[in-house]
Amino acid sequence: MKRKNIALVAHDNRKKDLIEWVEWNLKVLIPHRLYCTGTTGKLVEEVLIKNDEPYELIKLKSGPLGGDQQLGALIAEGKIDVFIFLWDPMEPQPHDVDVKALLRIATLYNIPTAMNRSTADFIITSPLFKTDYKPVVKDYSEYLNRLVQGITTDNKQK
Ligand code: PGA
Repeated sequence: MKRKNIALVAHDNRKKDLIEWVEWNLKVLIPHRLYCTGTTGKLVEEVLIKNDEPYELIKLKSGPLGGDQQLGALIAEGKIDVFIFLWDPMEPQPHDVDVKALLRIATLYNIPTAMNRSTADFIITSPLFKTDYKPVVKDYSEYLNRLVQGITTDNKQK
């Protein structure tokens, strides 16, 4: 089984749901490297500590303080394999623009992303979860090498 990099993030009204889900799936999650935004990470860590087995958890900044953007950068660098993101459908967030950017970049890089518990259940029980699954990323070379009006260049980007 390939060790995966799994990002777990929940807005305040969804943190209880995420923690219950983590407790329920702890045995499956613990061999993997976990990434969380700050406050989510603190709560996930409490569950991991109680379990008394070695774990690896990387806590980023709190979401509204730049954690969502840090996670977006990790996704763009190909460092996240699975993303569980329980965002709040009932309340606007101070960092709504960051949330949108994070969802956009997860979509762009075709990362398996769960935005509710049932999808998270489907992902974690999928046979693909146990494989070295590599998401296909659309070829953007045409976009990267487009001619920008008024400027010509032979310099090809990758
Ligand atoms: P938090 O951030 O885990 O620090 O609360 C969550 C989020 O991205 O809004």
